[in-house]
Amino acid sequence: MKWLVETLASRVAGPVRFDEPLAQYTTYRIGGPARALVVPRSTEDVVAVLQFCNEAAVRWLPLGLGSNVLIDDAGFDGVVIRLGKGSDWIEEVDEDPEIWRVGAGMPTPRLARSTARAGLSGIHRLVGVPGTVGGGVVMNSGAHGQEFSQTVAKVDVVGPGGTVETIPGSDVTWRYRDSGIAGVVVTAATFRFTPGDPAVLNREIQRNLAWRKKGTPFDKPCCGSVFRNPRGSDRSAGQLIDGAGMKGLRIGGAQVSPLHANYIVNTGGATATDVKAVIGTVREKVEKEYGIELELEVRIVDQRGSDPDG
Ligand SMILES: Cc1cc2nc3c(=O)[nH]c(=O)nc-3n(C[C@H](O)[C@H](O)[C@H](O)COP(=O)(O)OP(=O)(O)OC[C@H]3O[C@@H](n4cnc5c(N)ncnc54)[C@H](O)[C@@H]3O)c2cc1C
Repeated sequence: MKWLVETLASRVAGPVRFDEPLAQYTTYRIGGPARALVVPRSTEDVVAVLQFCNEAAVRWLPLGLGSNVLIDDAGFDGVVIRLGKGSDWIEEVDEDPEIWRVGAGMPTPRLARSTARAGLSGIHRLVGVPGTVGGGVVMNSGAHGQEFSQTVAKVDVVGPGGTVETIPGSDVTWRYRDSGIAGVVVTAATFRFTPGDPAVLNREIQRNLAWRKKGTPFDKPCCGSVFRNPRGSDRSAGQLIDGAGMKGLRIGGAQVSPLHANYIVNTGGATATDVKAVIGTVREKVEKEYGIELELEVRIVDQRGSDPDG
């Protein structure tokens, strides 16, 4: 184990932490330790980590803000590559003010505000989506009629063994809250925005933030919507859960939020086991009541990694 950290530390410029508890890297505040956690400072760092993991046959997991993951109480048996500080840059491309290349660690709310200030429309309505650009691309996150798929022109990734590649946005299999991007680390995304009036864009930002403030349990750690809205149903996942009488259901420290039924919150000291138990009960009840099988939006991470389909 010491060998793993020392070798990694000698190959990357960013910090490497050993046996690092992951709860502090998730908005759920839940999750056991990773064997190591690296905060890359550059694409070269990501390449070095993936080369190392390939040589040493060690698992790896990319993580952004951890706002859409539920990490197992036993943690992750490998190296977490956490894109945040150091990967949060913006550059203009070809001196075209409407095209920005953005580091995967850039917080989406910061990008939303920066684009609005610059008079660029396309991502500003995601001001209340508390993740990174890398996580947003992978999840095809969206809000208020905007989602990443609409503005992402290219995605820079590093694949297993450290291979660097740029994927055109048109080659990504964009779907509702999914991009199909898996098994790689997203290091940057190139966006094509459209011009807009900064005052109008800023008003939209204020409106969206006010709307969120009313309907989001910001006082409790959570991961946003736990379930995807079901296709072919005129009711949202939240409405189905509410209709099945599950609002307020509590197991251990986990509870279906009394404010928003598609949020399962950590009321204090919740474990991943508690949250999974609530998920299971909710699914069972909604299926019994409506014959609808709710799909997970949150990514469950166990010791072996993350399953894109929950
Ligand atoms: C209060 C709250 C409100 C929310 N509201 C919304 C909303 O309105 N709309 C919405 O769509 N989502 C919402 N979310 C969910 C979440 O914020 C988004 O899905 C967000 O884009 C996830 O980004 P992240 O950086 O936190 O990803 P993480 O949670 O860190 O990771 C999510 C998945 O992406 C992978 N991943 C992360 N970064 C990378 C990378 N660089 N390369 C490769 N894979 C990567 C991870 O392995 C994991 O499988 C909300 C969450 C919270 C807590």
